[in-house]
Amino acid sequence: MKKFKVGILGATGMVGQNYVRLLENHPWFQVVYVAASTNSAGVTYEEAVKGRWHMNTPIPEKVRNLIVEDVANIEKASKKCDFVFSAFEISDKNLVKEIEEKYAAAHMPVVSNASANRKTDDVPMLIPEINSDHLKMIKIQQKNHGWSKGFIAVKPNCSLQSYLTPIYALNKAGYPVKKIIITTLQAVSGAGYPGVPSLDMIDNVVPFIGGEEEKTEEEPLKILGSIVNNKFVNNKDLTVSATCTRVPVTNSHLATVNILFKDKKPTKEEIIKIWRNFKSVPQDLKLPFAPINPIIYREEENRPQPAKDRDTDKGMAVTIGRLRPCKIFDYKFVALSHNTVRGAAGGGILNAELLVKEGYIK
Ligand code: NAP
Repeated sequence: MKKFKVGILGATGMVGQNYVRLLENHPWFQVVYVAASTNSAGVTYEEAVKGRWHMNTPIPEKVRNLIVEDVANIEKASKKCDFVFSAFEISDKNLVKEIEEKYAAAHMPVVSNASANRKTDDVPMLIPEINSDHLKMIKIQQKNHGWSKGFIAVKPNCSLQSYLTPIYALNKAGYPVKKIIITTLQAVSGAGYPGVPSLDMIDNVVPFIGGEEEKTEEEPLKILGSIVNNKFVNNKDLTVSATCTRVPVTNSHLATVNILFKDKKPTKEEIIKIWRNFKSVPQDLKLPFAPINPIIYREEENRPQPAKDRDTDKGMAVTIGRLRPCKIFDYKFVALSHNTVRGAAGGGILNAELLVKEGYIK
């Protein structure tokens, strides 16, 4: 199979570096183009990330000597790339939205990690195990904009992955969940690089992450929602209440989750069986980045733990433990997923694989 030529926007950042690392031997995608801010543009990738390469493996040979381009140079990208992964960060979200739209208008599918387009009416926000049916919004989006080949598809906030697939698995098995209380303990890499100052993090927990609780409460409703008359309609049966904290862990977001079922309540054994047996579209399609089992349940009372569980199945599986009755809701459990892999670059790659397999990226 001829590989797709891929560009990474924001290639020098925390998520971008993970794309570079994870795509090194990808069977379908080859990184041919890297872009970042004007601060990095014009030098080789190796020079641009000198002193701030945070991966545990060396910079891949094929990327090392690529010249970093300016994200704003859309024409150049369009000549070299079949599609782009978007992982650049600008505080003005309207500008990010505008730039991603320009890429799509220049005939490039944009597989995005940024939050700027997550609420956009005709942009699907994908977790392939949950809502691959939302892909059909892409045709509507292309029609709305007059785009023939380009489009934007996004992935959600990095903290959602740990608990939303398990909740969806229960919904799908006939046990809809109506209320969730969640407290996240999020890794420092979630804030990018250099991120949170070390004096704020060492020996400390910061009980606030700007904008994170709103995303944690709102994004699940779109993902678990449906398309009616060519528009997304949020799920109205679910309410989420979130507290998001930053903890001194390098990678992976842990979450404590309390759930209340809408009507029927399964037994603990049934829940664990549902999670262990859960497979979905990425597994059926045998997508290269799909975890074999998206949900891993561990019996040990002291798991999951960031250092021990984040890399399960290439960092793409969610690990859950400590399922037990809750005295206020029905059950409570602890969930963990790798924020820069499943929650960012790995999740973006899985989205792109789905888009290829379903014929949206050609
Ligand atoms: P980061 O480490 O701060 O990296 C930011 C990237 O954006 C760098 O490549 C930077 O290039 C580039 N950039 C900065 N200003 C720019 C500008 N004016 N024009 C074009 N490019 C610019 O951030 P990150 O953690 O990788 O996050 C990237 C995106 O992914 C964000 O939208 C974030 O919300 C999202 N995300 C992050 C995570 C996570 O766990 N970290 C998870 C999910 C989603 P220079 O190196 O040249 O400055």
